[in-house]
Amino acid sequence: MNKMNHIYEMIDAYRDEVIQLQRDLTARVALGPLNGGTGEHEKVDFIHQLLRRMKPDLIQEIHAPDEKARDGYRPNLVARWEGLQKDPAVWVLAHADIVPPGNLSLWECDPYHIKVDGDRVYGRGVEDNQHGFVSAYLALKAILDSGEPLKRSFGLIIVADEETGSQYGLSYVLKHHGQLFTPSDLIIVPDAGNENGTMIEIAEKSMLWLKFTITGRQCHASTPQKGQNSLVGAAELILALAELKKKFPLSNPLFSPPVSTFEPTKIEANVSNVNTIPGRDVFYADCRILPDYPVDEVIATAREIAKSVGARTGFKIEVETAHRHDAALPTPSDAQVVKALKKAVLKITGQAAKPMGIGGGTVAAFFREAGLPAAVWSTCPDTAHQPNEYCLISQVISDAKVFAAICQDDEG
Ligand SMILES: [Zn+2]
Repeated sequence: MNKMNHIYEMIDAYRDEVIQLQRDLTARVALGPLNGGTGEHEKVDFIHQLLRRMKPDLIQEIHAPDEKARDGYRPNLVARWEGLQKDPAVWVLAHADIVPPGNLSLWECDPYHIKVDGDRVYGRGVEDNQHGFVSAYLALKAILDSGEPLKRSFGLIIVADEETGSQYGLSYVLKHHGQLFTPSDLIIVPDAGNENGTMIEIAEKSMLWLKFTITGRQCHASTPQKGQNSLVGAAELILALAELKKKFPLSNPLFSPPVSTFEPTKIEANVSNVNTIPGRDVFYADCRILPDYPVDEVIATAREIAKSVGARTGFKIEVETAHRHDAALPTPSDAQVVKALKKAVLKITGQAAKPMGIGGGTVAAFFREAGLPAAVWSTCPDTAHQPNEYCLISQVISDAKVFAAICQDDEG
C-alpha cells in the first residue's frame, strides 16, 4: 500500500484517541489570572508528559514570569522532532489557555467534562484551541507509529496567555527564544477556520479595547434630581459611539466582515442595590480595525465623541486604551506555508482553500511582526467562546491528515 495512505488510514482510526485526549485536556482547566484562574500549568504539564513519550529531539518549557500565576510563571512548551529534510521545518502552534465557560445555565453539560454525541465533542476548550493541538499531535503520532521516517522536521509549540494578550505566551517566547524559528519555516496556527477548511488566514485587523469611565453623582433613586445618573451617561455614549462606523467606513474583501467593527462589550458592576443611582460607570468597547486605518486615529475619534457627549450632558468622561494590538504586515498570499496548506487541503478534502483576513487577533500576528510568515488554518464549526462549545471528531481527524501530508510533503 502507498505509505501515505497507510498513515491516513491510521489517522482515520483515531476516533477514540481524539475523545480521550479531549477528555484529558478539558479536565485540566487552564485559565489565566485575568480570567480568574492560576495559569496553564496542569494542562501544559500533561502535554509535556505526553510529548516526552514520543521522544522529541528537543523539548523545553519556557516559563514567562507572572507573579499573578501559580508558582510565579506561565508555562510555554516547545518540542521538535528532526526530519530527513532540515529545511523548511513545519511548526504548529496551539494555545493552552481557555476562556471561562460564562453562564453555566446555558451549558447542556459540565464544561470541564466532555460530552460526546455522535461526531460532536462538547466542552470548554475542545475547539479553542485543543482541536489544533490534538490534530497536530495525532498527525505526528501516526507518522512515528507507521515506522516511516519523518520527512520534514516538525515542531509543536503550546503557548500560554493567548486569550488575554499573549504577553506571557508567544510574545514572550519570540522575544526570548526567537531563534527557534526561521523565516523559511512553515508556521501554522490552527486557531481559527471555517467549516470546510477553505480559509487560510493571512491578515488580521488591528485590535483595540477602549475603556470608558463615566462619572456623575450617586444619590438615592427616589431623588434623582440630587445626583447625576452615570448609567444614563454610559448609555448615551454607547449610542454616540456608533458614529465610529461612519468615520471609518472602508471595506476590504479579504476580511469577513469586510469592515472595521466597534462593539461595546463589558460593563463593570456599579451599585449593588436597585434604589441607588450610580455615580460611576465603566464600560469597554472592542474595536477591530482594518489595517488601512492607523489605530491612533480611531482612539482620537473615540475621544472626540466622548468629549462631545460630555459637553452635551455634563458627565465627566475618561477614555483609556485597555489593550491594543496593531495589525502586522500580512503574510504574502504566495508564501510557502500558504502553498503547502492549499496543496494538502486539496489532497485530503478536495477543497480549494484560499488566503483571507479575519478580525480576531490570533497569535499569528506575533509571528508576522517577527518577520515569520505564519498562516492560521483549521476546519472547525467556529463555536469558540460560546456555551456548548464543540468540535467535530471528523474535522480533527481530517486536519490531522492535512498536517501529516504537509510533514511528509505528500506528492502522491
Ligand atoms: Zn484560540
